[in-house]
Amino acid sequence: MSVWEETLRSRLARLEQEGRLRSLVPVARAVYPVLERDGRSLINFSSNNYLGLANHPELMEAARKGAQRGAGATASRLIVGHDEETERLEQEIAAFKGTEAALVFGSGYTANMGVLSALLQRGDAVFSDKWNHASIVDGIRLSGATLFRYRHLDMDHLEAQLRLAEKKGIRRKLIVTDTVFSMDGDVARLHDLISLKERYDAALMVDEAHGGGVFGPYGEGVAHHMGLAGKVDLHMGTFSKAFGVVGAYVAGNRTWISYLVNTCRPFIYTTALPPAVIEMIRTSLRLVREAGSRRIALHRKAARFRNRLKALGLNVGPSETQIIPLIVGDVHATVKLSQSLMENGVLAVPIRPPTVPEGTARLRFSLMATHTEEHLETAIDAIERAVRTEGVTIHD
Ligand code: PMP
Repeated sequence: MSVWEETLRSRLARLEQEGRLRSLVPVARAVYPVLERDGRSLINFSSNNYLGLANHPELMEAARKGAQRGAGATASRLIVGHDEETERLEQEIAAFKGTEAALVFGSGYTANMGVLSALLQRGDAVFSDKWNHASIVDGIRLSGATLFRYRHLDMDHLEAQLRLAEKKGIRRKLIVTDTVFSMDGDVARLHDLISLKERYDAALMVDEAHGGGVFGPYGEGVAHHMGLAGKVDLHMGTFSKAFGVVGAYVAGNRTWISYLVNTCRPFIYTTALPPAVIEMIRTSLRLVREAGSRRIALHRKAARFRNRLKALGLNVGPSETQIIPLIVGDVHATVKLSQSLMENGVLAVPIRPPTVPEGTARLRFSLMATHTEEHLETAIDAIERAVRTEGVTIHD
């Protein structure tokens, strides 16, 4: 056996021992509220298709129309991969977000990773919520900037760190946060973040991956919902969740965007998005703006689902959004609960440490505007039964 084969096998064995070995399971119809897995129909609480747009006929039609221009973009943006439709899309994103300019990226992961590693340099300070997404963490790591990781939503801790950075004479400071956190479904304290950034002369970047499409009068995101969009220096968001497509944007003033065009390596050294995707994103921007009634339905269903779980004495953590954790605590009990729900036709995947803090293993329910009341009632009944029969004690 080669040294690599031996090493990889032993690393995999370690993951298995720790109960962390993952494998791929084919799923069909994941764009719908009921999907198919292992030949079974399961109510789907695990997709990010919050508004139910991922199977919208206008998006399929947009893909067909876009593909007429060619299957691929053939080159990176700065070579010949930039066309009028992409230019128009970026103007539409900037208008939607109320900024001077915007850039599209192939994914939210590359947007965060690329933007943070381009903006920040050694000697700069970055302040990052402990539960920010992995793509933010990785971008910071690549940048070489000094990381101040503040306790989740803890504004006093952040302020202490800002003061420390100031004392050290660090001039450029950037605060970065998810707006809706994907594990607890809770929301960043944007008012406080803005007053701190103003007081300490820092900049603020927000990741609207889970807030975009869902919050704001036209689905612009949490910053618009709170009336604070103009105070954010850099907005990032994905087209892969509520927008139902793939890709991401970064929006801000012209200087920041021009700087990224010139320095952001995952923007410069990758092939541009294909015309079919550009067309789908343009259509999804319009569909999201017009999706007021889907947003209302989603928030109403999420509030009801949360309240029903709470009424059963279950712990839904600090969730205020369409992402609703059912915090169990013990890893094995969480996995058992997930299996028991699956046997009863409900798919909510277990999320375990180190993705979440030790002792807070949970099932995560992501709601969709297209879940029916019947889907939700069936799920709540199944949860009640599974908790009772599995004898799960819920961590508080
Ligand atoms: N930011 C956050 C907060 C996310 O949850 C995700 C996706 N899980 C991303 C960025 C990455 O987005 P994408 O899936 O489009 O790469």
